[in-house]
Amino acid sequence: MEESRIELACIKNGLKMTDQRRVIARVLSDAVDHPDVEEVHRRSSEIDSRISVATVYRTVRLFADEEIVERHDFGDGRGRYEEATEDHHDHLIDLNSGKVIEFQSLEIERLQKVIAEKYGMKLMGHRLELYCVAKDD
Ligand SMILES: [Zn+2]
Repeated sequence: MEESRIELACIKNGLKMTDQRRVIARVLSDAVDHPDVEEVHRRSSEIDSRISVATVYRTVRLFADEEIVERHDFGDGRGRYEEATEDHHDHLIDLNSGKVIEFQSLEIERLQKVIAEKYGMKLMGHRLELYCVAKDD
């Protein structure tokens, strides 16, 4: 099987790749949502039933420490994970359904630099989560 993007990033970072790490890397590479540890475990155990929650937990932590995946907190205390990519985006969270929408706003990006500069700082990054409910029309 071809290596997943996350597996390739791990190899590049010099991480030792076990079979289980490879499976977890693939699950995270294939994810188009923001799964938490339990969900990553559920998907991983469909491929290899021997993978434990503890292994998934340790592995996603390792990938996050290596900045191969990004950890998000969408307000419910559970870490959510997604592949770290070059193109930055922010998240809008529907508080009722838990649905997460990704968005980019050049205006917000620009404004953040302006604010940092105002305080004599250079912006190095940011996190932004918008917590919302659907408007009733
Ligand atoms: Zn995202």
